[in-house]
Amino acid sequence: MVDCLFCAIAAGEIPSCKLYQDERTFAFLDINPLRRGHALVIPKLHTPKLADASKEDAAAVMLATKAVAAALADLTGDPDATIAINDGPAAGQEIAHLHVHIVPRDADDGFPPIHGLFGPPTPGDKDDLAVLAAQVRDALGVAD
Ligand code: AMP
Repeated sequence: MVDCLFCAIAAGEIPSCKLYQDERTFAFLDINPLRRGHALVIPKLHTPKLADASKEDAAAVMLATKAVAAALADLTGDPDATIAINDGPAAGQEIAHLHVHIVPRDADDGFPPIHGLFGPPTPGDKDDLAVLAAQVRDALGVAD
Protein backbone atom coordinates (compact mmCIF):
# COMPACT_ATOMS: atom_id res chain seq x y z
CA MET A 1 0.00 0.00 0.00
CA VAL A 2 1.47 3.34 -1.08
CA ASP A 3 1.50 6.20 1.44
CA CYS A 4 -0.06 8.85 -0.80
CA LEU A 5 -2.19 11.90 -0.01
CA PHE A 6 -4.15 11.72 -3.26
CA CYS A 7 -4.82 7.98 -2.86
CA ALA A 8 -6.24 8.81 0.58
CA ILE A 9 -8.37 11.62 -0.89
CA ALA A 10 -9.71 9.36 -3.65
CA ALA A 11 -10.55 6.71 -1.03
CA GLY A 12 -12.40 9.28 1.11
CA GLU A 13 -9.97 8.80 4.00
CA ILE A 14 -8.93 12.46 3.85
CA PRO A 15 -11.63 15.07 3.21
CA SER A 16 -11.72 17.06 0.00
CA CYS A 17 -14.15 19.24 -1.93
CA LYS A 18 -15.22 16.48 -4.29
CA LEU A 19 -16.36 17.49 -7.77
CA TYR A 20 -16.67 14.22 -9.66
CA GLN A 21 -15.92 10.53 -9.53
CA ASP A 22 -16.39 7.45 -11.64
CA GLU A 23 -14.97 3.94 -11.62
CA ARG A 24 -11.46 5.12 -12.54
CA THR A 25 -11.19 8.80 -11.64
CA PHE A 26 -11.77 11.36 -8.90
CA ALA A 27 -11.80 15.17 -9.07
CA PHE A 28 -11.67 17.74 -6.29
CA LEU A 29 -10.88 21.39 -5.66
CA ASP A 30 -7.26 22.35 -5.09
CA ILE A 31 -6.78 23.42 -1.47
CA ASN A 32 -4.59 26.37 -2.58
CA PRO A 33 -6.42 27.58 -5.69
CA LEU A 34 -4.48 29.59 -8.25
CA ARG A 35 -7.88 30.93 -9.32
CA ARG A 36 -11.39 30.21 -8.04
CA GLY A 37 -12.42 26.76 -9.21
CA HIS A 38 -8.86 25.39 -9.55
CA ALA A 39 -9.49 21.66 -9.69
CA LEU A 40 -7.45 18.46 -9.78
CA VAL A 41 -8.40 15.29 -11.66
CA ILE A 42 -6.68 12.05 -10.70
CA PRO A 43 -6.81 8.36 -11.48
CA LYS A 44 -8.00 6.42 -8.42
CA LEU A 45 -5.21 3.91 -8.95
CA HIS A 46 -1.86 5.18 -7.65
CA THR A 47 0.05 6.34 -10.73
CA PRO A 48 3.09 8.60 -10.33
CA LYS A 49 3.26 9.99 -13.88
CA LEU A 50 1.25 10.00 -17.09
CA ALA A 51 3.60 7.40 -18.58
CA ASP A 52 2.66 5.04 -15.73
CA ALA A 53 -1.08 5.22 -16.45
CA SER A 54 -2.90 2.49 -18.34
CA LYS A 55 -4.53 3.52 -21.60
CA GLU A 56 -7.91 3.12 -19.89
CA ASP A 57 -6.96 5.35 -16.95
CA ALA A 58 -5.33 7.96 -19.21
CA ALA A 59 -8.48 8.10 -21.34
CA ALA A 60 -10.75 8.22 -18.29
CA VAL A 61 -8.75 11.06 -16.73
CA MET A 62 -9.01 13.09 -19.94
CA LEU A 63 -12.76 12.48 -20.19
CA ALA A 64 -13.24 13.46 -16.53
CA THR A 65 -11.13 16.57 -17.14
CA LYS A 66 -13.38 17.52 -20.06
CA ALA A 67 -16.52 17.12 -17.93
CA VAL A 68 -15.19 18.99 -14.90
CA ALA A 69 -13.76 21.82 -17.02
CA ALA A 70 -17.13 22.27 -18.76
CA ALA A 71 -18.98 22.42 -15.43
CA LEU A 72 -16.48 24.91 -14.02
CA ALA A 73 -16.77 27.12 -17.10
CA ASP A 74 -20.54 27.22 -16.64
CA LEU A 75 -20.42 27.84 -12.90
CA THR A 76 -17.47 30.19 -12.43
CA GLY A 77 -18.20 32.45 -15.39
CA ASP A 78 -14.63 31.93 -16.60
CA PRO A 79 -15.01 30.73 -20.18
CA ASP A 80 -11.62 29.08 -20.62
CA ALA A 81 -9.04 27.18 -18.62
CA THR A 82 -5.39 26.35 -18.41
CA ILE A 83 -5.27 22.55 -18.22
CA ALA A 84 -1.88 21.15 -17.31
CA ILE A 85 0.11 18.36 -15.71
CA ASN A 86 3.35 18.88 -13.82
CA ASP A 87 4.57 15.48 -15.00
CA GLY A 88 7.39 14.51 -12.67
CA PRO A 89 9.55 16.31 -10.11
CA ALA A 90 11.73 18.07 -12.69
CA ALA A 91 8.54 19.68 -14.01
CA GLY A 92 7.51 20.82 -10.54
CA GLN A 93 5.27 17.91 -9.52
CA GLU A 94 5.07 17.96 -5.72
CA ILE A 95 2.54 15.18 -5.14
CA ALA A 96 3.72 11.99 -6.81
CA HIS A 97 0.25 10.89 -7.94
CA LEU A 98 -0.73 11.94 -11.46
CA HIS A 99 -3.08 14.93 -11.42
CA VAL A 100 -4.42 17.24 -14.08
CA HIS A 101 -4.75 20.85 -13.00
CA ILE A 102 -7.78 22.74 -14.32
CA VAL A 103 -7.37 26.45 -13.68
CA PRO A 104 -10.33 28.54 -14.88
CA ARG A 105 -9.25 31.49 -16.99
CA ASP A 106 -10.73 34.77 -18.01
CA ALA A 107 -9.24 36.98 -20.72
CA ASP A 108 -8.70 39.76 -18.18
CA ASP A 109 -7.18 37.69 -15.36
CA GLY A 110 -3.71 39.04 -16.04
CA PHE A 111 -1.95 35.66 -16.12
CA PRO A 112 0.10 34.40 -19.08
CA PRO A 113 -0.36 31.22 -21.08
CA ILE A 114 1.84 28.24 -20.22
CA HIS A 115 4.36 29.69 -22.67
CA GLY A 116 4.97 32.36 -20.03
CA LEU A 117 6.81 29.75 -17.95
CA PHE A 118 9.62 29.58 -20.46
CA GLY A 119 10.33 33.08 -21.62
CA PRO A 120 10.01 34.32 -25.18
CA PRO A 121 9.91 31.51 -27.76
CA THR A 122 12.55 31.42 -30.48
CA PRO A 123 12.25 29.64 -33.84
CA GLY A 124 13.43 26.02 -33.64
CA ASP A 125 16.35 24.75 -35.68
CA LYS A 126 14.66 23.16 -38.72
CA ASP A 127 17.12 20.26 -38.96
CA ASP A 128 16.84 19.48 -35.25
CA LEU A 129 13.03 19.62 -35.43
CA ALA A 130 13.02 17.17 -38.34
CA VAL A 131 15.50 14.78 -36.70
CA LEU A 132 13.66 14.70 -33.40
CA ALA A 133 10.28 14.24 -35.11
CA ALA A 134 11.69 11.30 -37.11
CA GLN A 135 13.11 9.75 -33.92
CA VAL A 136 9.76 10.02 -32.14
CA ARG A 137 7.86 8.57 -35.14
CA ASP A 138 10.34 5.69 -35.18
CA ALA A 139 9.95 5.10 -31.44
CA LEU A 140 6.16 5.08 -31.79
CA GLY A 141 6.10 2.99 -34.97
CA VAL A 142 4.53 5.73 -37.08
CA ALA A 143 5.27 5.88 -40.81
CA ASP A 144 7.08 8.90 -42.29
P1 AMP B 1 1.77 19.73 -8.15
O1 AMP B 1 2.75 20.79 -7.79
O2 AMP B 1 1.45 19.68 -9.61
O3 AMP B 1 2.17 18.39 -7.59
O4 AMP B 1 0.40 20.16 -7.47
C1 AMP B 1 -0.05 19.68 -6.25
C2 AMP B 1 -1.29 20.43 -5.93
O5 AMP B 1 -1.97 19.75 -4.88
C3 AMP B 1 -1.04 21.85 -5.43
O6 AMP B 1 -1.72 22.78 -6.30
C4 AMP B 1 -1.61 21.85 -4.03
O7 AMP B 1 -2.23 23.07 -3.68
C5 AMP B 1 -2.60 20.70 -4.08
N1 AMP B 1 -2.90 20.07 -2.80
C6 AMP B 1 -2.02 19.69 -1.86
N2 AMP B 1 -2.68 19.10 -0.83
C7 AMP B 1 -4.00 19.14 -1.13
C8 AMP B 1 -5.19 18.70 -0.47
N3 AMP B 1 -5.15 18.11 0.73
N4 AMP B 1 -6.37 18.91 -1.08
C9 AMP B 1 -6.42 19.53 -2.28
N5 AMP B 1 -5.34 19.95 -2.97
C10 AMP B 1 -4.14 19.75 -2.40
